[in-house]
Amino acid sequence: MADVPAECNIKVLCRFRPLNQAEILRGDQFVPKFQGDDTVLVGGKSYMFDRVFPTNTTQEQVYNTCAKQIVKDVLCGYNGTIFAYGQTSSGKTHTMEGKLHDPHQMGIIPRIAEDIFNHIFAMDENLEFHIKVSYFEIYMDKIRDLLDVTKTNLSVHEDKNRVPYVKGCTERFVSSPDEVMDVIDEGKSNRHVAISVTKCSAPLQTLCQQSFWLFLCFMPLSFFQVSKTGAAGAVLDEAKNINKSLSALGNVISALAEGTKSHVPYRDSKMTRILQDSLGGNCRTTMFICCSPSSYNDAETKSTLMFGQRAK
Ligand code: ADP
Repeated sequence: MADVPAECNIKVLCRFRPLNQAEILRGDQFVPKFQGDDTVLVGGKSYMFDRVFPTNTTQEQVYNTCAKQIVKDVLCGYNGTIFAYGQTSSGKTHTMEGKLHDPHQMGIIPRIAEDIFNHIFAMDENLEFHIKVSYFEIYMDKIRDLLDVTKTNLSVHEDKNRVPYVKGCTERFVSSPDEVMDVIDEGKSNRHVAISVTKCSAPLQTLCQQSFWLFLCFMPLSFFQVSKTGAAGAVLDEAKNINKSLSALGNVISALAEGTKSHVPYRDSKMTRILQDSLGGNCRTTMFICCSPSSYNDAETKSTLMFGQRAK
């Protein structure tokens, strides 16, 4: 357990995707009502975040509003962490990755890669930066290396400065944004394709050992979805297990956001142990709450919005 940091800056942003073709054909209603820059009304209740992005927000606007400054801060010595949280098909991948090789549709990760290298190329020639990328998935509290699939259950250790790291995880040195994209393309092909996963981070590390963690957190089948799909047995166990990891994450984030608690429960899951240094040290943390606008997903959307409110 670690003390609450003196300086930890957590921002919670909410993004709604547009209705998709199937939802329109089914006659679903468009539920959210946007009020100003920071409030959304769903089912008569209003939810306030640091920023709410309505459906027509572009990838570039999202990046400029929330991630651009984090890149500068990471290069000045802060740790950065960006999460996306939401039910399946709510826009997490679109927000974090988007279309990796399309300049308009690319998401936060490829834009960060470009920005980091642009900053470094503009710096003093005598400064040397070493940038490493790892890519792994945390699924049912097991860490699986997506760059070496023979490593299926890696553990979290602490170095001599008590900074947590994933022991034995592949690290690739990269020297251009394209090389970052190659590593991500390679890792994506090994990704777990289950209905619900808590997956993947890509720490980009500079010489001074700041890390930049990029997470997509897949919300488990909620009990509403369980009843919609009739899930049972292994699928239900999986949902419960993932619920446990996500509530560990929620507990850590709300303890940090409250800032008054003396202890933060990092040890309750592998994901929160890995993040201990990034969330608890000098950090810049942003959480995206991704939502569907459809009336069909009403229960999941409310539960996602409530999760985001815990961090406020
Ligand atoms: P998730 O990763 O949460 O499962 P995706 O990011 O794959 O969901 O999104 C599901 C679908 O919706 C994809 O086809 C994606 O392109 C589309 N989509 C998501 N967010 C947006 C958005 N903001 N604007 C337009 N299309 C979007």
